[in-house]
Amino acid sequence: MKALSKQEAREGLWMVQAALPIPGPNDLLIRIKHSSICGTDVHIYKWDEWAQKTIPVPMIVGHEYVGVVAGMGSEVRGFEIGDRVSGEGHVTCGHCRNCRAGRRHLCRNTLGVGVNRPGSFAEYLVLPAFNAFKLPADIPDEIASIFDPFGNAVHTALTYDLVGEDVLVTGAGPIGVMAAAVARHVGARNVVVTDVNDYRLDLARQMGATRTVNVARDDLWTVAADELGMTEGFDVGLEMSGSGLAFAQMVKAMNHGGKIALLGIPSGQVDIDWNDVIFKMLTVKGIYGREMFETWYKMTALIQSGLNLTPVLTHRFPIDEFQQGFDVMLGGQSGKVILDW
Ligand code: NAD
Ligand code: ZN
Repeated sequence: MKALSKQEAREGLWMVQAALPIPGPNDLLIRIKHSSICGTDVHIYKWDEWAQKTIPVPMIVGHEYVGVVAGMGSEVRGFEIGDRVSGEGHVTCGHCRNCRAGRRHLCRNTLGVGVNRPGSFAEYLVLPAFNAFKLPADIPDEIASIFDPFGNAVHTALTYDLVGEDVLVTGAGPIGVMAAAVARHVGARNVVVTDVNDYRLDLARQMGATRTVNVARDDLWTVAADELGMTEGFDVGLEMSGSGLAFAQMVKAMNHGGKIALLGIPSGQVDIDWNDVIFKMLTVKGIYGREMFETWYKMTALIQSGLNLTPVLTHRFPIDEFQQGFDVMLGGQSGKVILDW
């Protein structure tokens, strides 16, 4: 089969002929239809410090996808050939304390599809059937192909009650703008999104942000207090940039008793004013992955109840033009980029 692989320990990805993967007794064989490019794939493409210490070479990458069940192991129950599926990319051990308590997202032995085991930039993917998510007929293929990052957005946005709240989202990448859309959909009042990239702030407005702020140009506090009348600050913060500056700005902009969910992954140590955390009694919670499988049910229900994610799907390429897809991602002028297999 054709597959997109990290073949060499340097920048780039290579289209290769790989052996058809064979499902074990509890696995599904999934024929991939669409697979979208994640920021993680860009790190692997660029071969940065994180990728060098994380990715064994060679490795078929990719982990955001939709496909169809094409085969299965002898022990699999509940799936049929032809079922449309996406899948949870965190493969958990099933044996640790958290796994046994049903808190799979807290497994300490998590392996990542397309990171630690072969991924979805391929004609076929083998996945534990436990990780597969059967898609209802009213979830379109392209939307299903971004369920993995949509799940990060939903997991983060639904961490706190947003009804009637003023929400700050820092970072208008694909995940940030989807989180803004979710926040509006579930009844937040002001949803203010910050970034330093105007293309992405425009995307945030299309996704339902009530106000965007380019923090390279404008002062967040002035906009919030003077223009929006939020003189007490934000109730909920969703950090989705990985920028230490954005996190520090968020801590300053929170009201007393404010709640922060941190999804963005900083590249190094981050300096914030801990006095604000203490004296304003802020709650700060880290967010990793998606809850298995509550987040998946919430995602489905959000789409079924009218949440529109289509503006975030900005580019599509046939798989043989994958290089163009990565070039678009590297340029920062995109939402989600989908590769068609
Ligand atoms: P992305 O890199 O596409 O978007 C990040 C955005 O932040 C960019 O548009 C960038 O311009 C913006 N930004 C940079 N500096 C800023 C600043 N000072 N203020 C506001 N915005 C600023 O990332 P993405 O794919 O949307 O993912 C969002 C973040 O979540 C990334 O940090 C990613 O690594 C992380 N992530 C975490 C998990 C998890 O499980 N915790 C999963 C997926 C992604
Ligand atoms: Zn575990």
